Amino acid sequence: MTYALVIHGGAGARPGIDYTDQRAHMAQLIARGGENLADGRSALDVVSAMVADLEASGLYVAGKGSAPNTSGIIELDASIMDGATRKAGAVAAVSNIVNPVLAARSVMDEGRYVMLAAEGARAFALASGIADVPDPESYYTTHVDHGSSEVAGSHGTVGAVALDEAGNLAAATSTGGTFNKPAGRVGDTPLIGAGTWADDLVAVSCTGIGEAFIRTSAAHDVSARMRYGNVALDEAAEAVLAEVANCDGDGGLIAIDCNGRITMPYNSQGMKRAAITSSMPAVVRVFEPEPA
Ligand code: ASP
Repeated sequence: MTYALVIHGGAGARPGIDYTDQRAHMAQLIARGGENLADGRSALDVVSAMVADLEASGLYVAGKGSAPNTSGIIELDASIMDGATRKAGAVAAVSNIVNPVLAARSVMDEGRYVMLAAEGARAFALASGIADVPDPESYYTTHVDHGSSEVAGSHGTVGAVALDEAGNLAAATSTGGTFNKPAGRVGDTPLIGAGTWADDLVAVSCTGIGEAFIRTSAAHDVSARMRYGNVALDEAAEAVLAEVANCDGDGGLIAIDCNGRITMPYNSQGMKRAAITSSMPAVVRVFEPEPA
């Protein structure tokens, strides 16, 4: 049976920074996710679990690893989409919950709305059983650890896309957003069609300068190019990143099509990423080529 899984830890990777911990974490996570899919777990459950783990690790700019905005508050964005049903859920500018992606999943499962924001999203998340962060000061890791706090426009995100053995696709994405963002700034990550998309053809999770991914409807555009242009996955993904570049953005995306083909292109300096499929052993990469 065919299954495939790709995860990312953001396109904000910079040469010269040591990503040993992130590489080790992604290697362990992708192996576990591959086993889950081989055991028949759904793509939706696997992308939820992968992103929840990436968030809770503190190793990426999402969940525990997020940086505060210019008002000193951590505001998180996340979304999830089920390709089989086109159901989707998202939270935006939500503070002090451990797993924004699980809050997004709860919004989706509850079913009445697609997106909740700010205080309303937090209240909904807590009522849904998502863990609170009672002491933000001690919970969040300092973003200096990402090595990118000094660089204007730095950013990071985590995401996962999967194809399960039943042939269903799913995608999820979560972020602390761009560094030094103002209060209330929301990027592409929680926007279905911009940062996250899944349907019967393809599942996509994006990372990069969110404004450019919003202005290009990046995640959905991968699907649209495949569906209307009869374009292959790789070509569609590259064309979307070219449009992102035309809108002064850089970043990358991970995607899987309904045949289990994967792609993980980027036009930034690096992208933390890992993949496994039923016909390919796990790979973990940050740069291309990898430093010696
Ligand atoms: N896309 C995210 C945002 O703009 C940041 C990132 O992916 O690094 O909020």
